[in-house]
Amino acid sequence: MQSTAYERLVAHLKRAHYLGTVAGLLGWDEQVNLPPDSADQRAEQLALLAELQHAAAADPAIGELLRELDSVAAVDQAVVVREARRDYERVVKLPASFVAEKARHASAAYHAWAAAKQADDFSAFAPFLQKHLDLARQEAAFLGWGDRPYDYAIDKHDPGLTAAKLTALFDELKAGLVPLVRSIAASPARPPAGVLQKFPVEAQRDFLREVTEKLGFNYRRGRIDVSLHPFCEGAGADIRMTTRFDADNPLDSLFSSIHETGHGLYEQGLPLAAQGTPLGQNAGMGVHESQSRLWENQVSRSRAFWRFFEPRFREKFPAQLAGVSSDELYLAVNEVAPTLIRVDSDEVHYNLHILLRFEVERRLFAGELAVAELPATWNALSQELLGLTPTSDRTGVLQDVHWSGGAFGYFPSYCLGNMIAAQLWFTVRSQYPELDSDFAAGDFSRLLGWLRTQIHEQGRRYEALELVRRVTGEELTPKYLLRYLHERYAPLYLG
Ligand code: ZN
Repeated sequence: MQSTAYERLVAHLKRAHYLGTVAGLLGWDEQVNLPPDSADQRAEQLALLAELQHAAAADPAIGELLRELDSVAAVDQAVVVREARRDYERVVKLPASFVAEKARHASAAYHAWAAAKQADDFSAFAPFLQKHLDLARQEAAFLGWGDRPYDYAIDKHDPGLTAAKLTALFDELKAGLVPLVRSIAASPARPPAGVLQKFPVEAQRDFLREVTEKLGFNYRRGRIDVSLHPFCEGAGADIRMTTRFDADNPLDSLFSSIHETGHGLYEQGLPLAAQGTPLGQNAGMGVHESQSRLWENQVSRSRAFWRFFEPRFREKFPAQLAGVSSDELYLAVNEVAPTLIRVDSDEVHYNLHILLRFEVERRLFAGELAVAELPATWNALSQELLGLTPTSDRTGVLQDVHWSGGAFGYFPSYCLGNMIAAQLWFTVRSQYPELDSDFAAGDFSRLLGWLRTQIHEQGRRYEALELVRRVTGEELTPKYLLRYLHERYAPLYLG
């Protein structure tokens, strides 16, 4: 039987997609299982796959089929053709030699960053960062965004967003957030220090498995392992999450696992039948981060969640929790204290860490800031926003891995995700006031079902801002995030 042009297009898209999933799996394996002296071989394998995937995604046959499919009538097919065209037009504008050069530089820059961080010396990383910036500008120029390279970097992660739109949202968020942070800092309420000690890793593993399964993660289509930095990788029927364990910080492994579970639930909820096409893909990093944040923060830091899980937590760790009251435990779950390190930050301060990075990236791309001036600017902004000045590059400008891979425009997605999560949270609670009693009974299916139909099953049908507008009936606004933070933290810290 003769296949249609649409079917042939989908077959091509799937080919590129599955090559990407193989690369993802090798990347996961690199961080979870790789023997120490096998890194060079893995880099070669990944470079080869990147080349094959680029060739598959830039196959001229896709271009011909897209021209043939100029006016498909079916709604879903039209979405696939529209988004496939967007991807294709981008991928063919990048010369293969540029893609290879960028990949090679990312690998070299990653190792340079790790060494510079170890040595606490930004100047050793600076030339690599400069080259990443030059490459990012070149890439934007190839794509026709030469006059707006930072907007292009943002649009790559969150289609439709621009620096100007983010500035408006972030300014409003900052105006509401800074006074809240200041009043919490002045509050005498503090969780008792060092009460969560000596939690055996095996029992931590059992507990987080129970929690993430209850939230709805399907372990028949995914797994969780250990890596240095937690992440979630994979697509469709195979989702790989990771966590890390610290016997004296059991809440870190629990909440990072829940965070990754939020990403995993999104990926598991994308329509499997559309896998490999844009309808089976996520709607950008901001939306992705909204899913991880909603489960991590709005759901799992709530009283209702702990009403169900606290007895189970105590059952797993009777001796460790014997001297800890329920109120103390709940305060430890919702501890607010400034820190220099973004990944250790509580959710109140977290957005300030992102505003700092957004401001630095904006100035770098605008040419208002030279790479050599970065540490001083970083430290000044840290003092202004967090009230803390880094005493080293390691705890300041070198702390994050993102720039070593050339991932500019990625940080704003975290803050965007926090805003989207809070806005979704108020919407779903107005539709289902009984969610708290669901959670207290250990039932998260109503929330997950809502997220499935409203967000997950939509794939890439809508860009983030339109998706938010459709689901919540309102433009994206920081006011729900501010309202959520006040409602959660004022009773704990402001009496
Ligand atoms: Zn995340």
